[in-house]
Amino acid sequence: YSAKHSRQSIVIFDEELHEGVEAEFQLLTNLKTALARGELTLYYQPIVCTQSGDIYGVEALLRWPQADGTVIMPDKFITLAERNNLIKQLSAFVINRVFQDLVILLEVHSSLEVHINLSCQDFVEQNLISTLAMLLDTHQIDPKHVVFELTESTVMQEVEKARSLIETLIEMGFSVSIDDFGTGFSSFSILKELPISQIKIDGSFVSLSHESEKDQAIVETSMFLARKLNCSIVAEGVESDACLQYLSRLGCPYIQGFQICEPLSLSECIKWMNSRLMVKGAMKRLDGR
Ligand code: C2E
Ligand code: MG
Ligand code: MG
Ligand code: MG
Repeated sequence: YSAKHSRQSIVIFDEELHEGVEAEFQLLTNLKTALARGELTLYYQPIVCTQSGDIYGVEALLRWPQADGTVIMPDKFITLAERNNLIKQLSAFVINRVFQDLVILLEVHSSLEVHINLSCQDFVEQNLISTLAMLLDTHQIDPKHVVFELTESTVMQEVEKARSLIETLIEMGFSVSIDDFGTGFSSFSILKELPISQIKIDGSFVSLSHESEKDQAIVETSMFLARKLNCSIVAEGVESDACLQYLSRLGCPYIQGFQICEPLSLSECIKWMNSRLMVKGAMKRLDGR
């Protein structure tokens, strides 16, 4: 502050706060640079059919690799991007890259569905739909292979905007899934109000559902609800074989989690899918004998 300014206002200088702000500003600057240079990357985590183990789809998850070999996870920079008006560019980058990768993934597995996470700001921005239309055309993608994941809390922040976005996405041929289902405050309202075709039950209810009665109650009720409402359901956060077996007995159609596979780079994911398809094919041939 200049001498003139400081006469008019008292500035309380908080060292810790200042360092926090400084660090955040630095991270934001680095994020903008990384985006401009195309240094962010996407990992893909398989989602499989519980009964057969067949591959149903993959979820695209952002990763920000650093020069020192470490990786910054999305929880560290998505909210930062949201607070600083960077989601429009970030989402455009993600969608473009996913469509590019999807062309390759479909050569390995032709019925694959790819899941893309959206943020609340994606509905406020007017550009998402036109960006999507343009990118569908550029990459010649059939929208039936693309599912957008929206979280409950995201949708409830802007219900009317969310509704209009979801309706447009569905008209365009995409599907919409509610992510982290059960963690918000309005799970029922969402199912009642919006044309949702899938819910992803949050990992915090799933991971120990084979041994915790409370989690079981939540998972089983969500399953029942989804079935009644003609929604498909994915259980996230499946971390053990016991949990997988429990969900299989329950008839949960799709599962995702470290027990099946962690998020993988595109090339690792292609390898994983190929070996899975090969094993499956061999088993089928054996069964046929
Ligand atoms: P999400 O969409 O709920 O994604 C699932 C998260 O759970 C991922 O974390 C995944 O790596 C992790 N996960 C998968 N299996 C397991 C498991 O068995 N146990 C546990 N404990 N965790 C598991 P990740 O990749 O760190 O992403 C965190 C969140 O960041 C995502 O949660 C999503 O909300 C957001 N995100 C990621 N990529 C994007 C993106 O491209 N755009 C936007 N807007 N958000 C994204
Ligand atoms: Mg998700
Ligand atoms: Mg989730
Ligand atoms: Mg989440």
